[in-house]
Amino acid sequence: MSIGNRYISAELYEYILANTLREDDLGRDLREVTGHMPESNMQISPDQGQFMGMLVKLMDATRIIEIGVFTGYSSLSMARAMRDGGTLVACDISVDYTDVARGYWERAGVADRIDLRLGPAIETLDGLIREGKGGEFDLAFIDADKENYPGYYERCLSLLRSGGLMIFDNILWSGRVVDPADSGRQTSILRDLTAEIGRDGRVVDVTLLPVADGLLLARKA
Ligand code: SAM
Ligand code: CA
Repeated sequence: MSIGNRYISAELYEYILANTLREDDLGRDLREVTGHMPESNMQISPDQGQFMGMLVKLMDATRIIEIGVFTGYSSLSMARAMRDGGTLVACDISVDYTDVARGYWERAGVADRIDLRLGPAIETLDGLIREGKGGEFDLAFIDADKENYPGYYERCLSLLRSGGLMIFDNILWSGRVVDPADSGRQTSILRDLTAEIGRDGRVVDVTLLPVADGLLLARKA
């Protein structure tokens, strides 16, 4: 399990983890199991999971949307931080990945808090809006295909309550967003969305943290 942070030195990152990481055996086990998969770099870092768990507690978030589950580290971090009665709607297209996640939700005793919806997340979010769940959610974590980030943004704006929080993962895209030579599609989408959110009056308290691969936090007005 090699983890690091590309925006700070290895020594600083090690210092942060050594002093503050409170990951338990279950979280460590999930990282180890995922570490053997070729796509292991898709998993969020443990300090990021811990940070998002803290946000869930600070907001007392009980209605959460996650877009991009993979093997479940972020959903586990947030679902375990929720109090009883909370629900996390987990969106992904992969049965194989989410089967791994499901095993950890069960072991953590939070499976009953998670509403897994398999299918393209845009369709799932449109379905939630059609079900009349607009304005009901406290928190949305967006970590799936970057091409659809703008579509996720618009739909999450509808689904969040006033004061609800959106968190976009990988918003710095390994630093490529500031490389003028990079005009790739995903880089351009992330750049344009960041600029749009930065000036969008529908959100307040916008913050971009160089945590993990960059987290953009935006609170709905
Ligand atoms: N948050 C996860 C974690 O903590 O490990 C990592 C998520 S991984 C970066 C992205 C996930 O998005 C993958 O599991 C993939 O199957 C899923 N995904 C990709 N395209 C999707 C789509 N259109 N709709 C829903 N899920 C999608
Ligand atoms: Ca990610």
